[in-house]
Amino acid sequence: MSNALPGRATTSALAAAVKYAFSSSLSSSSPASSLAFSSSSTYIRTCHKTARAASPFYTRRFLPPSTVPGMSSQRFYCSSSDANNSNSSSHSNPPPPPPTQPHCHHLHHPSTPTLSSQPPTSTTTTTTSETPVMPDEAISQYLRQSHARVFEHNRAWVTEQTRKDPDFFVKLSAGQKPEYLWIGCSDSRIPAEQIAGLQPGEAFIHRNIANLVNNVDLNVMSVIQYAVRHLEVKHIIVCGHYGCGGVAAAMTPQDLGILNPWLRNIRDVYRQHSAELDAIADKTARCNRLVELNVMEQCRNVIKSAAVQQSYSKKKYPIVHGWVFGLDNGLLKDLNIGFENMLAEIQKIYNLDDL
Ligand SMILES: [Zn+2]
Repeated sequence: MSNALPGRATTSALAAAVKYAFSSSLSSSSPASSLAFSSSSTYIRTCHKTARAASPFYTRRFLPPSTVPGMSSQRFYCSSSDANNSNSSSHSNPPPPPPTQPHCHHLHHPSTPTLSSQPPTSTTTTTTSETPVMPDEAISQYLRQSHARVFEHNRAWVTEQTRKDPDFFVKLSAGQKPEYLWIGCSDSRIPAEQIAGLQPGEAFIHRNIANLVNNVDLNVMSVIQYAVRHLEVKHIIVCGHYGCGGVAAAMTPQDLGILNPWLRNIRDVYRQHSAELDAIADKTARCNRLVELNVMEQCRNVIKSAAVQQSYSKKKYPIVHGWVFGLDNGLLKDLNIGFENMLAEIQKIYNLDDL
């Protein structure tokens, strides 16, 4: 096999992630929450340009928290003036927007300390629905502050870690021997270490849209091989989450551009389990069941790898687990995939244990 194919696959995965980050209505997790994919500056400017291009239906706004149900802190919004979209924080799994429809929601930085929830009165204008437009300078100021606060938090974290353990960074720089490989969704609401109570050095992390393990994705396959053969992780966890926007998007019969090849992995899982899934009338329940089935399928993909099969044959680890995180209660659910039985079933066809 040429080197080009995995390379293209990785590029495709990244492109899909960027596309997803700009597709604002795939889930309640906004694209702007996925700032790992793109800079907030680029996102905001793109939002602003498309909003102006589509005027008067779209305007850039700054909504006080009290005007948005469910918001308890300061958030910067790009919002449609269309009444159907004015309550943009309340829908959980809306359909993706048409490709030509500019649409931006939920760009929020709840803990930004110094940006007022009210725009400066001297430089604002109002739209047709009394909501003030945010001026360019306020956006620039906001971006400077939201960038700077990360470094403030970093310095505070260093101080706290050093206070608790003066040798913390001496140990951290000595090397890593993580116990876990975590393959999770890029969704911003699922910080792996925090929800699992893990410390720096305990988990090797890979995240992408909908926690996929694609055989030709050089990124994830390299992560698995390195984690198993060099770091010798003891557990590999594929962790999905209920309410996954990537899974919901895969259930939407629509051309999503560069996302198509990425989401097709999930659509293939749906096809394999269509009888069970089609029998679930409630769309949310059907989506959440697909989340579970997708996690199990990605566990199979992990187990199909030579690194896992050969390591387990020789050392009896790593063990592969399928978990699902509940956004509504914070709990992890173990799907109990039955690793050994799954391995035996897979090795009937995909046996790469040449030891
Ligand atoms: Zn997700």
